[in-house]
Amino acid sequence: MTARIIDGKERAAEVCRMVTDAVALLKVERGVVPGLAVVLVGDDPASQVYVRNKAKQTLACGMRSLEHRLPVTATEAEVLALVGVLNRDPGVDGILVQLPLPKHIAEAAVIEAIDPGKDVDGFHPVNAGRLASNAPGLVPCTPLGCVLLAKSVMPELRGLEAVVIGRSNIVGKPVAQLLLREDCTVTIAHSRTRDLPGIVRRADLVVAAVGRPGMVRGDWIKPGAIVIDVGINRVPGEGGKSRLVGDVAFGEAVAVAGAITPVPGGVGPMTIACLLQNTLTAAKARRG
Ligand code: NDP
Repeated sequence: MTARIIDGKERAAEVCRMVTDAVALLKVERGVVPGLAVVLVGDDPASQVYVRNKAKQTLACGMRSLEHRLPVTATEAEVLALVGVLNRDPGVDGILVQLPLPKHIAEAAVIEAIDPGKDVDGFHPVNAGRLASNAPGLVPCTPLGCVLLAKSVMPELRGLEAVVIGRSNIVGKPVAQLLLREDCTVTIAHSRTRDLPGIVRRADLVVAAVGRPGMVRGDWIKPGAIVIDVGINRVPGEGGKSRLVGDVAFGEAVAVAGAITPVPGGVGPMTIACLLQNTLTAAKARRG
């Protein structure tokens, strides 16, 4: 058996097309063009690439992209002041502060300063609480992307045994909550979990969000299961170059699973697509 490869780029392009159409309609009907403000503090090379890609795709969907760059020496007070300005700016529908922030700035304080209605990353405790209590709110982008990818191969997830490996606030926990919303029976595994292979073997749906290259082996996977690999790990490749791999040993798992996301080209592209969807959702919600 060879698994169906879930093409994250293709699914992300579909989401972006829907967002583009909805943005065009909003402009015609209400004269509104949603705006996404991205705050980048410092000069981390990976963050710069992420911010550039986000800005490019925001514009491609017909929305406004507002970039705010602060030097690595910016103080927490300066970042909080900028967030305050963006909170009050009626032209800003979504605010994303690119993480990680320099070590002298408390990420939690910055996230909590963002207006929950503009929190398109879905990390604010108010949005986390809404997700936990099944209320409408902005949902973190990567977890949302994971669920959309799983639903692209199985639209009805109800009743599935789902195992999420990882319990971070930005991926593991919100994925688990979204899967619970889909009526899955959810197990959350972490570094203290006993017999992880045995637990994963029960799963019809596995979401791996650990950050350990190839940790989930092929013989952990139940035949026919859906495997969503969130991990992004840089490992040495051929010719002295590095390459990206996921948390799942892809070559082994692809022979057992029913469907699997590749790395790269799986969850990664969906994360940006869901960010744009969240910006549209925030723009509509703010304008009633
Ligand atoms: P964190 O480091 O915050 O969390 C990792 C989780 O994995 C923790 O809950 C940890 O458990 C668990 N874990 C670590 N080692 C083991 C182990 N041996 N067995 C079982 N569980 C283990 O990472 P993130 O959630 O932020 O990210 C996870 C991965 O997803 C990373 O590779 C990251 O790069 C990637 N990522 C990808 C995104 C995308 O767009 N595709 C977006 C965000 C992240 P414990 O809590 O006990 O320490």
